[in-house]
Amino acid sequence: MVDDKQPRAGGPVTYVVEHLDAELGPWSALEYACIARESRAAGARFLLSSVPAELKMPDDLAKMEELEVEQRSVEDIFADRKSRVCLLDPAAKVELSPVDGDQFDVFLFGGILGDDPPRDRTSELRKKGYTGRRLGPKQMTTDTAVRVTRMIAQGKVPLEEIPYIDDPELRVNQNESTEMPFRYVKRSDGKPIMPEGMVDLIKKDADKGVDDLF
Ligand code: SAM
Repeated sequence: MVDDKQPRAGGPVTYVVEHLDAELGPWSALEYACIARESRAAGARFLLSSVPAELKMPDDLAKMEELEVEQRSVEDIFADRKSRVCLLDPAAKVELSPVDGDQFDVFLFGGILGDDPPRDRTSELRKKGYTGRRLGPKQMTTDTAVRVTRMIAQGKVPLEEIPYIDDPELRVNQNESTEMPFRYVKRSDGKPIMPEGMVDLIKKDADKGVDDLF
């Protein structure tokens, strides 16, 4: 049984997404809103960092009180405790494990839309020198990466016990389906866990052409 609702003894765990894209479009907005809601429900903080002052936040996101938005970068915010920050990095040599939940207070993610093939933009954070941990070899969406980190660090579930679904196919209309080239956590009904509203957004975007999605 996964229990990721327990707040930790030494203050809340903080999940930080360093926003690295120039824009913050509807896809990222749904992912960030989902991370904010789930972090709050798990007794954790969610911080969206490096958000340029001139960036127009989507209204639904701007009004969420579960979301803390920072113009400063993660380096400035956590300058005094760099060793307590763990970067979730698809290129790290060590997998995240439950003991890391005691070793680190801050889990850092790249605010980057998934791309296929992955362009390794997480390297922008890697070069800052944080300790890195991997969540298996397959690229996850940012909300999935936070969800899996929470299950491991707070819920103490080993990575290999988390049920996954890779590259799910989504039916966008009667004749077409589109493959999502990412790893997702599998729900008990066998479907991938995605942010609220994402399936509808994918269907809508599919009308514009699947290539524009990534
Ligand atoms: N295409 C990517 C890149 O350019 O690095 C991956 C972006 S992924 C959608 C967004 C973030 O989720 C990454 O920066 C990383 O923090 C986290 N992430 C995704 N899959 C991961 C994995 N298998 N292991 C560790 N972190 C992962």
